[in-house]
Amino acid sequence: MIGFLPELYPDELIYSLFARYYAYSGYAAYIDAAHDIYSNCRTRPVPEFINSINECVKGYLLKSQTMEELVENHTMFPAYSRFIPLDRRKKAFEALVHTEGNYNNYLYIPVREIRNKYLRWCPICAKEDRENYGETYWHRCHQIDGVDICYKHYCLLFNSSVCKEKSSPMLISAEYEVPQEAKIYPCKDDLIISLTDYIVHVFNRPNDLKCDYNTGLILADRLDTKKYHYDSSWMRKNEEIYEDYCSFYRDMPDSLMNIDTMKKIFGGGIAAMRYFCQLALFEDVSEEELFLPNVSSLQSKIIFQRIARELNEPEDVVIRIGLAVIKAYSSSNELSKQTGRNRARWEDVDLKLLPTVKECTKKLYGQGDERPKKVTIKAVCRTLNLPDKRFDYLPTCKAEIMRWHETQEHYWAREVLWAYNRLKNGNEIINWKKIRTLTNIRKNNLEACLKDLEQIADKDTYIFILELL
Ligand SMILES: [Zn+2]
Repeated sequence: MIGFLPELYPDELIYSLFARYYAYSGYAAYIDAAHDIYSNCRTRPVPEFINSINECVKGYLLKSQTMEELVENHTMFPAYSRFIPLDRRKKAFEALVHTEGNYNNYLYIPVREIRNKYLRWCPICAKEDRENYGETYWHRCHQIDGVDICYKHYCLLFNSSVCKEKSSPMLISAEYEVPQEAKIYPCKDDLIISLTDYIVHVFNRPNDLKCDYNTGLILADRLDTKKYHYDSSWMRKNEEIYEDYCSFYRDMPDSLMNIDTMKKIFGGGIAAMRYFCQLALFEDVSEEELFLPNVSSLQSKIIFQRIARELNEPEDVVIRIGLAVIKAYSSSNELSKQTGRNRARWEDVDLKLLPTVKECTKKLYGQGDERPKKVTIKAVCRTLNLPDKRFDYLPTCKAEIMRWHETQEHYWAREVLWAYNRLKNGNEIINWKKIRTLTNIRKNNLEACLKDLEQIADKDTYIFILELL
């Protein structure tokens, strides 16, 4: 039984959390940590997913999130499920939520095609993590197949020695693997940057277990008919498309698919996520369009055809608009059901978290010697290691944070007053240069905040500061 479990960091792999636990626990042997964490102490941790964990660890993890959120936000499930049929997507998700090992049967994990065999890291993210949290961790977005640069810093990612495919009886933390200093190789290639942005966006989309779509058919449908079809017929000029695709990505030949995979995608088949994204970017198809629902029923087709005739508009335009409406409608439906199911649980979390949020906002606002900070949702999330959107579900906590809302001018006024008091209490000479060094505030900022300063400072202090201008 464990006595503590660290909090998950944003975008952290669940493997990474357990590796940090092992490092903190002080155990010499992995098997002792495994005994604490897993249902079976002989478990070989899978870096990208989640193994069967014991009830005690589950209890800790589910204090601040559901198992569904854990799978969606802290495993690589989205990378291997985004383009598989709805039925398989649902089964894979269920298997992971119940930590059954058979998720492999449903996900699409093309082991031979995957280029990133090891867990990866970004030198700048590692530095920032160490500054913010005192340690670094394994980020999910660095592990996406087809992504070779950091999505935040656009610099080359490095391989670690932790193999993703061959699970071993070991938990290795990023803090142990990632050196303190490493050379930074910035990426200057706009196409690689655009593709990285595209893939990471697709990866971070909310998990959709309601809508069935077939991205391959959509991509085939969006091809320029005049250019890529024989005499505007339904027959595609596959060789020409493939040639143009290779020429579009000529600077990254190692990551391209072969022509058979491309044909498979256009035929509605499954392939690696990066190939779908490459084709979408090549064809200039937006991320939203990739996930439009199938026109499944004949009834819908007849309706679309009728509207197209009535409006005298092209049928494909009417279908696109119609599908977008169906999609928006079905996802809002999903949202309300989801909310109903989880409402009671969120209310509970809302109340339990409130004292922590109160303490955090008070601390951020600043008291005594500590430099004041602006209380924002983002700042609280960062301090408490919560996902960015968490407070959308927690109205009481959110209201507590909003209570501290202030204008930028008001915040500057507080900073100036804090710097003044600090210098005064330290018996130092108070001048503008010293205040500026402490607060980083420019003279025009000070001028802009005088009204607020007059309200929060006593008269003598206000006049003193006024004379510094
Ligand atoms: Zn980075």
